[in-house]
Amino acid sequence: MTETTDEPAGRTAAQWHEIADRVTFPTRAVVGGELVEAEGGRTRADVDPATGRELSQVPDCSEADVDRAVRAARESFDRGVWRGRSPAERKRVLLRLAELIAAHADELAVLESLDTGKLVAATSTVDVPGSAAILAWYAESVDKVYGEVAPTAAGNLAVVTREPVGVVAAVVPWNYPLETAIWKLGPALAAGNSTVLKPAEESPSTALRLGELALEAGLPPGVLNVVTGSGPVVGRALGRHPGVDAIAFTGSTEVGRLFLGYSAETRVRRLQLELGGKSPNVVFADAADLDAVADGVCAGIFSNSGEVCSANSRLIVERSIADDLLALVVRKAHAFQPGDPLDPATGMGPLVSDRHAGKVLDLVAAGKETSTLLTGGEVAGPRRTFVQPTVFTDVDRRSRIATEEVFGPVLAAFTFETEEQALDLAHDTPYGLAASVWSDSLSRAHRVAAQLRAGTVSVNCVDALDVTTPFGGFGQSGFGRDLSLHAFDAYTHLKTTWFAYGATS
Ligand code: NDP
Repeated sequence: MTETTDEPAGRTAAQWHEIADRVTFPTRAVVGGELVEAEGGRTRADVDPATGRELSQVPDCSEADVDRAVRAARESFDRGVWRGRSPAERKRVLLRLAELIAAHADELAVLESLDTGKLVAATSTVDVPGSAAILAWYAESVDKVYGEVAPTAAGNLAVVTREPVGVVAAVVPWNYPLETAIWKLGPALAAGNSTVLKPAEESPSTALRLGELALEAGLPPGVLNVVTGSGPVVGRALGRHPGVDAIAFTGSTEVGRLFLGYSAETRVRRLQLELGGKSPNVVFADAADLDAVADGVCAGIFSNSGEVCSANSRLIVERSIADDLLALVVRKAHAFQPGDPLDPATGMGPLVSDRHAGKVLDLVAAGKETSTLLTGGEVAGPRRTFVQPTVFTDVDRRSRIATEEVFGPVLAAFTFETEEQALDLAHDTPYGLAASVWSDSLSRAHRVAAQLRAGTVSVNCVDALDVTTPFGGFGQSGFGRDLSLHAFDAYTHLKTTWFAYGATS
């Protein structure tokens, strides 16, 4: 998830800390246009993974709260207060929301960084401006997408139009909280749906603030509802609610499977699942600029602390250059030492939570038993969320670090001698979200890219992504696509209206 802007962060650590000291945390859910508490006033703590400090108490919503939110969305949809507006009117409101996101960029960047440990240098230049830009792109697209006239026989006119599906629930993770929410809400709202957003429990703040800003932008009450709380309660209630017409989910494959089950148990509904990955980074010896490759390898696994669904967590390198490349990667990995996420000079922030750090460190310990540790592998900071950039080589193909999604700054390196072996290693995973290939041979790059089974193949780069290109997976990485005009497929029905008017009068 690396779409970038040219704006530098431009502030010192002290200035970001000052902003963080002043920032107000949103503490109310957004339901039917009102800022509300959870049933019975129940709350749960939002914790800073860099310090362990409690940041705020947010609503710990219940099944009854979810029901209220879905009913509010349903009512707004049925009354047509949003879907009934012209595309140009919807565009104006969503552009206003995009402007408000941009106007509140510092606040949102700091909220995101404090909630998750993400670098403010990234949230202020990528996540927040990127979210505003993506929302604006969908707003702009909605009055430029035309319907179709089918090539039917004379005497008939069949028009194909897109209609909103109804109530869309977006259940999103903590690694790119605002961006993944916008990836789903942008096209869903532009198409005229009413929505319910459930952020991950680790990252409620930007979602709640987004709900407030949407009201300020003029989105009618009930069109965007935001409910916070735990996955097994709030996520499950949304997944099972008969009033939800479509689910857009990003997260683990395990929970994605639960959403398939929820639909099977309750009602047939549209599902879009963007799940995990174990993406291969295949490097051939004919990639001339090894320094650039090493930069790409490090960015592919250490950006966002490796908490990226499409992270290039498996390096698959031709044996003749493996030692040279790994030496470069180890050297460059030092630039990603974990530190204060509010300091623009920090290379990598802490992991999202103590619980998640425990999972990552468990996998690192397993890696030490089955592989050769080249660098890292330790906690380096005030809390165990600060995990060093870690590189393993001589990795056993069946070991846990070779097969499990670590979702942390941990690279597993493998070597090959032939193109066939490279592809065999690349495909030794049930996932298929992303893949990279590095080669200066045009024919090899085309040949290998064509064979790699992944939703996105990046050639001589890593994790290439843009609002104009679809993003999603093959296999156990899910189905459906975020981004691009194809995202509308998840949030619209195609409707055929057939007029039989007779061939001659
Ligand atoms: P989850 O898949 O558990 O969480 C994603 C979203 O689903 C969150 O909003 C979560 O809510 C919700 N959720 C959790 N349990 C349920 C449930 N039983 N029913 C309905 N919704 C639920 O991911 P985690 O955040 O726990 O991370 C676990 C692993 O998932 C990571 O280590 C990583 O491997 C993978 N992951 C993949 C991501 C991706 O982008 N593809 C993103 C994040 C994680 P809540 O958090 O409040 O419980």
